[in-house]
Amino acid sequence: MAEHESLEFGKADFVLLDTISMPEFMANLKLRFEKSRIYSYIGEVVVSVNPYRSMNIYGRDTIEQYKGRELYERPPHLFAIADAAYKAMKRRSKDTCIVISGESGAGKTEASKYIMQYIAAITNPGQRAEVERVKNMLLKSNCVLEAFGNAKTNRNDNSSRFGKYMDINFDFKGDPIGGHINNYLLEKVSVVPSLTFVLLFVQLVLGGPESLLRSLHIQKDPKAYAYIQVGGQKKSSINDSADFKAVADAMKVIGFTQEEIQTVYKILAAILHLGNLKFGSDGDVTLIENSKLASVLGDLLSTRQENVEKALLYRTVATGRDVIDKQHTEQEASYGRDALAKAIYERLFCWIVGRINDIIEVKDFDVKVHGKNTVIGVLDIYGFEIFQNNSFEQFCINYCNEKLQQLFIQLVLQQEQEEYQREGIPWKHIDYFNNQVIVDLVEQQHKGIFAILDEACMNVGKVTDEMFLQGLNNKLAKHAHFSSRKVSTCESLEFDRDFRIRHYAGDVVYSVVSFIDKNKDTLFQDFKRLLYNSSNPVLKSMWPEGKLSITEVTKRPLTAATLFKNSMIALVENLACKEPYYVRCIKPNDLKSPLLFEEERCRHQVEYLGLLENVRVRRAGFAYRQTYQRFLQRYKMISTITWPNHELPSDQEAVKKLLQASGFEQDSAYGKTKVFIRTPRTLFALEDQRAQMVQRIVLFLQKIWRGTIARIRYRRMRASLIIIRCYRRYKVKAYIREVAHRFHNVRNMKDYGKHVKWPIPPRVLRKFEEALQGWRAGQLIRSLPPEDLPKVRAKVAALETLKGQRTDMALQRAWEGNYKRDQPELASFFTLASSELQRKDKFMNVLFSCHVRKINRFNKAEDRAILITDRHLYKMDPLKQYKVMKSIPLYNVSGLSVSPGKDQLVVFHTKDNRDLIVCLQGIEPPGESRIGELVGVIVSHFKSEMRKIQVNTLNPIQCSMHGKKCTIAVETKINQSQPDFVKSRAGYILSVPGN
Ligand code: ADP
Ligand code: MG
Repeated sequence: MAEHESLEFGKADFVLLDTISMPEFMANLKLRFEKSRIYSYIGEVVVSVNPYRSMNIYGRDTIEQYKGRELYERPPHLFAIADAAYKAMKRRSKDTCIVISGESGAGKTEASKYIMQYIAAITNPGQRAEVERVKNMLLKSNCVLEAFGNAKTNRNDNSSRFGKYMDINFDFKGDPIGGHINNYLLEKVSVVPSLTFVLLFVQLVLGGPESLLRSLHIQKDPKAYAYIQVGGQKKSSINDSADFKAVADAMKVIGFTQEEIQTVYKILAAILHLGNLKFGSDGDVTLIENSKLASVLGDLLSTRQENVEKALLYRTVATGRDVIDKQHTEQEASYGRDALAKAIYERLFCWIVGRINDIIEVKDFDVKVHGKNTVIGVLDIYGFEIFQNNSFEQFCINYCNEKLQQLFIQLVLQQEQEEYQREGIPWKHIDYFNNQVIVDLVEQQHKGIFAILDEACMNVGKVTDEMFLQGLNNKLAKHAHFSSRKVSTCESLEFDRDFRIRHYAGDVVYSVVSFIDKNKDTLFQDFKRLLYNSSNPVLKSMWPEGKLSITEVTKRPLTAATLFKNSMIALVENLACKEPYYVRCIKPNDLKSPLLFEEERCRHQVEYLGLLENVRVRRAGFAYRQTYQRFLQRYKMISTITWPNHELPSDQEAVKKLLQASGFEQDSAYGKTKVFIRTPRTLFALEDQRAQMVQRIVLFLQKIWRGTIARIRYRRMRASLIIIRCYRRYKVKAYIREVAHRFHNVRNMKDYGKHVKWPIPPRVLRKFEEALQGWRAGQLIRSLPPEDLPKVRAKVAALETLKGQRTDMALQRAWEGNYKRDQPELASFFTLASSELQRKDKFMNVLFSCHVRKINRFNKAEDRAILITDRHLYKMDPLKQYKVMKSIPLYNVSGLSVSPGKDQLVVFHTKDNRDLIVCLQGIEPPGESRIGELVGVIVSHFKSEMRKIQVNTLNPIQCSMHGKKCTIAVETKINQSQPDFVKSRAGYILSVPGN
């Protein structure tokens, strides 16, 4: 159903041909090939014609065009089918496989590489390193396998001498997580002189670094090696060393150790040297002519030269209990040598595949984490081969292709038609050639060719290839697909040598020569022991059965044919349980020409690939079928009839209604259990509608779920708030209860509970504690007589003002205020003077009075007294009956300064800068301090009048006498009896007695 290109390029899908006939088919195929359209469809099958030139259609931009697109949206391409397989796997969690078939050189291996590249390119958009690593290993392992498994044949310069089936495992997100490779190597002959040679040897000889070659005793000349010579017309090229390096790097990337890589080279070198071994004879003794090579082999295989020579020249035979060494003839020795070379190579190849599998295999897969593990398998297996001389390998290869054709027939032609009948869909049967009969001819038990071959091998005594042919003649003479000279009259068949099989793809004549040999495992036990006993652990591990001792009777190993048959049956079973996608490769000519379209050759391939039948079935058939229930499950959301659940009597009815409502009624048919959709276009339209609805459903689910999450979160939050609140309340209550308990009797205590220890309050109740302390203070104060209150206030004021500045506050002592008692003889004068002042100045209280020493601005120190009332500060002369010398209204006093020492210096600062500087004196008992009291009463008095007074504690003190700045410092003098002022440079010094 491909579109987008005009008819000038032919029809992109053969289903669109006007009439389905061979000429039309061929004309379309040819037209497309000539217009460089190498890919076409038959429905979902890709038909590919080898272009034999590089095409610019595999780049990044092309990949982008196909990514996520449906098959019909873009011109036919391998990428489209790779994407379809990937999508089917992702959408429906189905294992899928891509089967690439076609004859040798038709482009299968190339196709498989492009498919792998495409899958690698579209997966892992997140660029996660682990996935990249897996992908890289999958791609690199391909490179290594090709290097070891490819050979040059006359049909294909780079023919895979092994079939490979590679599984790529994906997790539920569609990211590759590993893989597995099955190899179907049959080319035991690849290294001995034959039609083929393994390219790797040439790469090694011509491209290996000098130092490596030296250590392997290899010279840089392919002609020097018997095993390369046949194909070795190839000239040295720069590519060889690049190719060699690419393989070496790939092995490293995959994770081969250095030791393993070294061993691989040693084994390759050993094979090359083996090929050059020559045997001769001296009388009846067989010997190695170039025995230096034996020593080289000993070195490369990590064993001793004698052991190598012995294994090559003798055979250990157990007769009953005895063990004897039997010498080979020259011919036997040469045969053994070649058999050894083949076997070593085969083991190496299988070991490499095993190692790669160990490394790329899915590890740590957990269904819970990764979801279902799905698989895309890619099968690239040898195509149908017809050579001049066809031997056992061609027979196996062609049998393999019969099997795959049979699978194709079963899945695409037979099952499909059977299904229509089963489901009761009107259907006209389409005829096709069923090749099951040929498959049976080869693989049937007892009667099949493989069985006859095995039987011939089991004969005792000398077994010849002719005996095998005889067996065939006896048992298969009547078979329509078998003939030989004996049973037919065909001239082209040689007597006693040839037999012919009429394959689905054409007649092939096989020569029985060496069938027996190739079928039997004819490697002498001595070689297995030789290699098992190698001191190279990697080599040793390839030959586990060398462990058996000579006398142990071993079970007869399975023959090559049986092994191959079993692996093919397993392969087909494996493929049959996957959803298959097909790439059918066609080889346009034998000349590797990009221009030539050999009509006859192509027609033959179209015929045997059954492409025409494929088109017929496809055109008559339906692209898609599904059980009603599954169909509804997938598409129920696109109609209100079926969403969320339908109410019709059956799913079938519901599907019918659904398709009618969507307008696809014409394109569908209803079977007994399944609905059939004719064109992919309808299906894609359904998918589109579904994708749109799914978005809305997802949004809906997200909405509900988000709401649920939010509600859960809200409830939790609210619960935690309630808990917090309760807890707080509990803490507070517990605290209050504790306080109540501890303090319940404090009212009756003497100290109102001062000694009671406070419990630690919760943060919110810190203030509470202060309040309670306040209560206690209140209680204390209330218990005082009211007349004491001013004194208490004064003490508090002194404490607040001088705390941390002076220590001599004398808070313990009763503050009397009036200290004229110091000179009782003058008391009556003072009383007189103060009452005179009270009358005159109308003060209420005396705050403080005391004798002082003062200094004036004329530097004269004199004894005086001060009287501080609630209105004035008076300076009096005690010697003149306390005559007032100076009266300063208190509102004129702006501050007080005292020193931080123990002295009694006080400076009264006035607003008019006529500070009064005095030192309290006449103190009884001596040593007592009155500074605290003086400061306290004055500050408290100011406070009671809501005024502020500045109190400084400094030494020296800055003051101002009649506007003149000066400083007064307090200094200790040893011989001073009384504090007194003396003049200093900056002002005055109060000298106080020291001790
Ligand atoms: P097969 O595996 O079927 O035997 P190959 O895939 O090895 O065949 O292809 C044989 C040769 O054909 C390749 O070496 C290459 O030169 C050419 N070839 C095949 N497919 C393509 C293609 N898509 N583009 C360009 N050349 C191709
Ligand atoms: Mg190939």
